[in-house]
Amino acid sequence: MSTIYNFSAGPAVLPKAVLEQARDELVEWHGSGMSVMEMSHRGKEFMGIAAQMEADLRELMGIPANYKVLFLQGGASSQFAMVPMNLLRGKTSADYVNTGEWSGKAIKEAKRYGAVNVVASSADKQFSYAPIQSAWRCDANTAYVHYTPNETIGGVEFHWTPETDEVPLVADMSSNILSKPIDVSRFGLIYAGAQKNIGPAGLTIVIVRDDLIGQAVAGTPTMYDYKTHADNDSMYNTPPTYAMYIAGLVFQLLKREGGLVEMEKCNIAKADLLYGCLDASDFYSSPVARENRSRMNIPFTLKDAALDEAFLKGASQNGLLQLKGHRSVGGMRASIYNAMPIAGVAALVDYMKSFEQQHG
Ligand SMILES: *Cc1c(COP(=O)(O)O)cnc(C)c1O
Repeated sequence: MSTIYNFSAGPAVLPKAVLEQARDELVEWHGSGMSVMEMSHRGKEFMGIAAQMEADLRELMGIPANYKVLFLQGGASSQFAMVPMNLLRGKTSADYVNTGEWSGKAIKEAKRYGAVNVVASSADKQFSYAPIQSAWRCDANTAYVHYTPNETIGGVEFHWTPETDEVPLVADMSSNILSKPIDVSRFGLIYAGAQKNIGPAGLTIVIVRDDLIGQAVAGTPTMYDYKTHADNDSMYNTPPTYAMYIAGLVFQLLKREGGLVEMEKCNIAKADLLYGCLDASDFYSSPVARENRSRMNIPFTLKDAALDEAFLKGASQNGLLQLKGHRSVGGMRASIYNAMPIAGVAALVDYMKSFEQQHG
């Protein structure tokens, strides 16, 4: 197999070492006579896998003891509803920052449960930047403040954590969780679909401060109440067992590789390499404000959109896959999550330079 680099935004590249280990353990896990897929979620083998995986995630992210970690299904999109259902806690409104597609969807869903106060928006410049906090118009009586630290489609990332004092800060970290160290204690709740920077699709992780649990709005379905899952160690019903197992292998690998401090260094080096290439020519350009450029998802355009198809065709001939931009924005997008090696970014940059020489 020649070297292939997969720049998909999600489901996305997984570490090769993890896939190989999963392959070796696929049919029979550790002499158990079973595949992880065949195990009861309440059996001692899987309970062990789940406990180790949670402990490793807690260690990697430095999750304080007063936070629950929930392993759910339903994707980040279900959290767009679960967050307001659980966190409004008798208040009538919540604050949201609108920085693009994903915050827009979160806002739309939250409006079904209460009033949404859009405290800041980057709609004025096609969602190409993250509004600075001094421009946010927060409501003192809000239930929580929600933002999207990395807009996966627009490629806009907050490189700072908002300060909301006593008001719980809620973050959709689907596409930049585990990409760098963060101070979890600054957040009331963090959620992320696994299929970007954690593992396979089907697993959604929620990290929630325990005093925010247990006050869901009347009528909340049992499965949409965080308390159900917190009280049952995410085993009220069947959790996504195989996806949890793979995520656990990813966590072990991240620990072996030096944890999130090391991840951040690698992610900075990869992003610098690609942005350096974009900045060095007029042939390519980035639509995102410099200080908010994402390290995970890097959209870029060619000088002449008529060349897009030739660019993508040549890229795939060179083993560089899934570079087509999101249908809503066009152009290209390279997603370079933790599992993308720097050699993949270097191969992309080499290809971009040679394409420019031919067509520039
Ligand atoms: C992918 C993504 C989502 C949607 O995730 P699903 O798991 O498909 O529901 C939500 N928010 C962000 C920031 C994303 O990148």
